[in-house]
Amino acid sequence: MAKILALPQELINQIAAGEVIERPASVVKEIVENAIDAGATKIEVNIEAAGSKLIQVRDNGCGIGKDDLPLAFTTHATSKIRSFEDLERLRTLGFRGEALPSITSVSKTTLTSRLQEAEHAWKIAPYLGMDVHPAAHPSGTTLTIRDLFYNTPARRKFLKSERTERQHIGQLLQRMALSRDHLAIILRTHGKTVGQYGGDTPEARITSVMGQELLEQSAAVDAESASMRLWGWIGLPTYTHTQTDRQHFFINGRIIRDKVVVHAIKQAYQDVLHHGSHPIFVLFLEIDPELIDVNAHPAKHEVRFREARLTHNFISSTLNHALRGVRPTAQARRTPSASEAPAGKPTPEPARKPALPLNHYPRNGGNRAVNLRESAAYYRWAQSTRPRTATPPPGAACAPENPDPFSGSGKDEGEEHPLGYALGQIHGTFIVAENTRGLVVVDMHAAHERILYETFKALLRGQESSQSQRLLLPEALTVSPAQEDVLEEHGAWLRQLGFTWRISKNKLLLQAVPALLKKHDCAQIFRDVLEELETYPASGAVERLQDQVLSTMCCHRAVRAHDRLSPSEMNELLRAIETTPAAGQCNHGRPTWTQIDTRQLNALFLRGK
Ligand code: ADP
Ligand code: MG
Repeated sequence: MAKILALPQELINQIAAGEVIERPASVVKEIVENAIDAGATKIEVNIEAAGSKLIQVRDNGCGIGKDDLPLAFTTHATSKIRSFEDLERLRTLGFRGEALPSITSVSKTTLTSRLQEAEHAWKIAPYLGMDVHPAAHPSGTTLTIRDLFYNTPARRKFLKSERTERQHIGQLLQRMALSRDHLAIILRTHGKTVGQYGGDTPEARITSVMGQELLEQSAAVDAESASMRLWGWIGLPTYTHTQTDRQHFFINGRIIRDKVVVHAIKQAYQDVLHHGSHPIFVLFLEIDPELIDVNAHPAKHEVRFREARLTHNFISSTLNHALRGVRPTAQARRTPSASEAPAGKPTPEPARKPALPLNHYPRNGGNRAVNLRESAAYYRWAQSTRPRTATPPPGAACAPENPDPFSGSGKDEGEEHPLGYALGQIHGTFIVAENTRGLVVVDMHAAHERILYETFKALLRGQESSQSQRLLLPEALTVSPAQEDVLEEHGAWLRQLGFTWRISKNKLLLQAVPALLKKHDCAQIFRDVLEELETYPASGAVERLQDQVLSTMCCHRAVRAHDRLSPSEMNELLRAIETTPAAGQCNHGRPTWTQIDTRQLNALFLRGK
């Protein structure tokens, strides 16, 4: 073994750089963070060769004094904290005092800065020496970083294509512009402006990065607890993306990737999202700094929550509440198309065809059914929990029939039904309705599935028992010892749902089922339920499990294609969608209805052109 020696400072900095400076975007992040900490309102970033040849960042922040210039490049020298207590109450983005020395150790960096009140600026080029020289510069700071990784060729090899590195930088700057008001960030490559982000209000900055559509296709969130506030916008479950790059989460203005947060958001969307699609959101968590530890990751991407569970539940329940509160409104509903790139990119947009803004999702597993009339219990429940439906406006093609559990009959002057009134059914699959904006098309199966699901859920959570229907001929099922254990554990709430059974010698006799489900396929449903219970991880929350079981049941039992509905049944379904939580999507996240407004109809026929 060789002798132990202390490492030279230069090597220490390069090792630190290995952790913090992964790629050009990491340099940009550190420098822009410094500018934000310095109170800058305008930050201009110019890059060449995706940052590996040049990264130049100019800000209009407070600047650095002459005497502080060499210190700024000294390891662990910072103006932001003085003590451990400061670290616990951190309000700035930086605190480690490592970024500038690390960057300098792997590039040729110069810094020019002028304090507001100073007569002129000062300049330092640490790779040449620590002396400072007078220079001309407006108040603020410019960092010029050339030849990144010139002395660490191994690092250079890890860089991806220029295109990819440029994308990383662009995305990062968009995120940073989203993080706070009164901040304009301009990105240039080789001096040419390629992006401008930011704004003076949350709406403006979001529009500059994500486009106007997010605000239209999202639910606003704002909730507060004793120690935190969560606010922002979350995309409707029908407005999603195939990747996660339109997800932005900030904790106290800091861009964060965090497992607890990701899980909480997933959970909130769990039964409304289509498989393979990812929610879009911009969310801001403001939390007492003492409740988080930002010193958990060298590049400060992660935080540690002191109360992880509390935070998780707060996020998840806030978002869940917001999503379930979404009801049909006058808004259009659409899925972003590939041509609708986020705003802020000056690339010319291709001319748009008047495409129908339908939500295209593949359908699967649709051949399961129940007659809607079997859902009488639901309608009775629904009738008792909401205002009665109105008569259709003059001119609507279908008037409600006699008052029975299925017909909307009560008068309710002046109330507008967002989903309008049914005109008819097409291919036994869709209900076509007319509302004030134009045409509404409803997927019967998907909508009914959600309504059933929510009905069961309300019954279960309301601790009421659902109506049970005795089977004339009990169904015999074979059960394994493991399944018997499962039934032992979850028997109570399964009975509450309306299932009754008896077990003897590996045989289960299914005697009654929830009235909402009765008739055919019950044995199969119960088998599916048992399977679901058996495979569910023991660590999972029972409510999640219940939701999963309910979802399986309801998918089996929702009205299926080719069920003929009467006009009043169709209208009832429309009213139920309007009043059922999260009724915009079935339990698999497929949309249950879509709006085609008259403007789009006109465009289809080239009217008014
Ligand atoms: P940290 O941000 O963790 O303090 P850095 O190495 O990033 O460490 O920066 C060192 C110091 O240099 C900062 O504490 C700050 O005082 C000063 N500084 C860096 N960039 C700027 C800037 N753009 N404007 C004003 N001061 C700056
Ligand atoms: Mg810093």
